[in-house]
Amino acid sequence: MVLTLDEARALHAEICVLDLHADTAKLMDKLGYDLAVRHERPLPAIANVFGHVDLPRMREGGVAGQFFSFWTAPTPERGCTRAVVAQLDALDAAMAKHPEQLRWTRTGADVRAAKASGRISALGGIEGGQALEGMLDAIEPFSRRGVRYLGLLHFSKNAIGRPAKGRGMDAAEGLTGFGRDVVRECERCGVIVDLAHINRRGFMEALELSTLPAMVSHTGVLGVHEHWRNIDDPQLRAVAENGGCVGIIFSKRYLGSASIESVVDHLLHVIDVAGEDVPALGSDFDGFVVPPRGLEDIAALPNLTVALSRRGIATRVLEKILGGNVMRVLDAVPAWGKLAA
Ligand SMILES: [Zn+2]
Repeated sequence: MVLTLDEARALHAEICVLDLHADTAKLMDKLGYDLAVRHERPLPAIANVFGHVDLPRMREGGVAGQFFSFWTAPTPERGCTRAVVAQLDALDAAMAKHPEQLRWTRTGADVRAAKASGRISALGGIEGGQALEGMLDAIEPFSRRGVRYLGLLHFSKNAIGRPAKGRGMDAAEGLTGFGRDVVRECERCGVIVDLAHINRRGFMEALELSTLPAMVSHTGVLGVHEHWRNIDDPQLRAVAENGGCVGIIFSKRYLGSASIESVVDHLLHVIDVAGEDVPALGSDFDGFVVPPRGLEDIAALPNLTVALSRRGIATRVLEKILGGNVMRVLDAVPAWGKLAA
């Protein structure tokens, strides 16, 4: 059934729409970006690399929750823990100021309850295992502060493994011994393993090691567009087997086109190869990506729902793509792991 924009909005109001990756907390930390204020997009379409997310536009886009991803300069590893803490502090401060609008959540039930109370859910993620500075013990305190996923790699080699691209890349090297310990410790602490940016060998090794579902928080797929950052069909099938999900990025560079239809193409490819339980949204908003036309910011998200419905995606599957698959992973990876809540 082809949805009108109003019908897409009505669907968003009914379900829990979740996005797996936005870098907004860095703007809050470094630029004093106010999450509670509606921003006009500060940059022209061609250079629209940040200013995509705030609470009023999340409401407009019918978004129930956002994973805020905390990133650090890739090298050196020193100072990375502090950089993540600063972003957590910035989000905490926004929440303390607007407790009626924004709430930390960890589980599907949390997200549903927050939505029912009129609040937007904040979920935390880390982009790049250098945030641990080589310390396994760093995972538990991050988990306690709201970090629900850990992206093992970013743009450079770290103590865990090698990036798909960037300083120290080496396709022949997989996870280090420390990297294997990190995967186990994440499971103990209720932290989902995020395989965005890791090289293919580390990706497969981490999935083999995982006893719980993992995710790829933001990526494109090689089956649609050839790019070093995108993942191939066996990687998609491995995620399906693991019970995880894959967030498709809204970046024209990785999608291969500036059209909203390219996001649909990547999502449909995930379904074709890995099934309808895998695709999710991983915008990478505020992460120096230029989103396609029609998806210029988070308020525009219902346009994607309309575009998907035009391509024959049933409402039942739309619900999975827009948030259902992420909710399933949130429920499958116990929020506190073996820690006492
Ligand atoms: Zn990234």
